Amino acid sequence: MSIQELEQTHTPGIYAKRDLAIVRGKDATVWDDQGRAYIDCTANQGVNTLGYSNDAVAKAIAEQAQTLINCSEIFYNDKRALFMDALYTILPSPMKRIFLCSSGTEANEAALKFARLSTGRTNVVAAVRAFHGRTFGSLSATYEPHYRDPFKPLVPGFSHVPYNNLAAMREALNEQTAAIIVEPVQGEGGVHPATVEYMQGLRAIADETGALLILDEVQTGFGRTGKWFALEHFGIVPDLLTLGKAIGGGVPMAAVAIHDTVKNLAPGVHGTTFGGNPLASAAALASLSEMKRLDVPRLAAEKGHYFKERLEEINSPLIREVRGMGLMLGADLKVKTAPILKALQAEGVLALPAGVSVLRFLPPAVITQEQIDTVIEKVSRVLANQK
Ligand SMILES: *Cc1c(COP(=O)(O)O)cnc(C)c1O
Repeated sequence: MSIQELEQTHTPGIYAKRDLAIVRGKDATVWDDQGRAYIDCTANQGVNTLGYSNDAVAKAIAEQAQTLINCSEIFYNDKRALFMDALYTILPSPMKRIFLCSSGTEANEAALKFARLSTGRTNVVAAVRAFHGRTFGSLSATYEPHYRDPFKPLVPGFSHVPYNNLAAMREALNEQTAAIIVEPVQGEGGVHPATVEYMQGLRAIADETGALLILDEVQTGFGRTGKWFALEHFGIVPDLLTLGKAIGGGVPMAAVAIHDTVKNLAPGVHGTTFGGNPLASAAALASLSEMKRLDVPRLAAEKGHYFKERLEEINSPLIREVRGMGLMLGADLKVKTAPILKALQAEGVLALPAGVSVLRFLPPAVITQEQIDTVIEKVSRVLANQK
């Protein structure tokens, strides 16, 4: 039985799977079970910013696996302590407290709970096209009706207003608003960067109304947009910053960085079994150290600039617009992406959709210029063959 057939027997059917079994990866290349190589512009939705099989991360995981894998947060642990301290070196200085967990949706759940706890208020305003995860609290902040509607009723008190529209946000806030939650660049929603005026305006109106600002950097964090965190592009510090995806160098991990402004965090108000486990902490510690050594934010800024320019040069009537920041890029097409993604895969390039018509590229920051050139050549050819 093939890998595909075996997995197909057991899958619950909730993923639209591609006909490809990936068994190995190095840097920005992955290989299938037939030994065929692909340039990976998915990085697993932005997880593998550091690329695949980084030697230092692999070594740290192997060593930690032989030392101590689990350690509940009722105890202290060396790797957890070192990771939190290393993470703090790249965070805004008022964000000294860090809650560790295992996935992006969990980080947003925690941030939403902390916002209610801190303010004593219940309501949350999110943006149209937002993606914050798929558990009930996060899903209530996610916009896409297709993700939400089958699961109603969701958590009460959530509303959505158009993104990059400060007047609409101001209108939606009242004395019951606990938090505003936004992504600095909407990822799943189609690669839409916020404007500087919008982000700075959100900070100001949150302060005016006593609501907390939750910035969801699960996808944009750890160099993806060309800075350690996208908040640096906007010159703002949120009250709660949620992180995930690339944080653990590929191992499940996520975090909430917490500003001094957040109150009432006391023993028992929240927690999770695997949060801050030494294996994930060791992986995240090694990953952050490698990201610093390679200067991943600079790599993402430079390669992202080159990639974006090359995408803009593609002379195709099917491209409506190219958007993005750093290595978080989208080509908004006049056609559906599904057949294009399939054709790219046949050409040895893996990319992502965002919505129905945006072709999304989130390659590892270690992608080479030659690989970007190859991707551009394949995208041009596939688009030219569409009509
Ligand atoms: C992926 C993502 C999430 C959810 O993360 P999971 O680890 O899949 O739960 C939340 N917010 C944003 C912006 C994301 O891109």
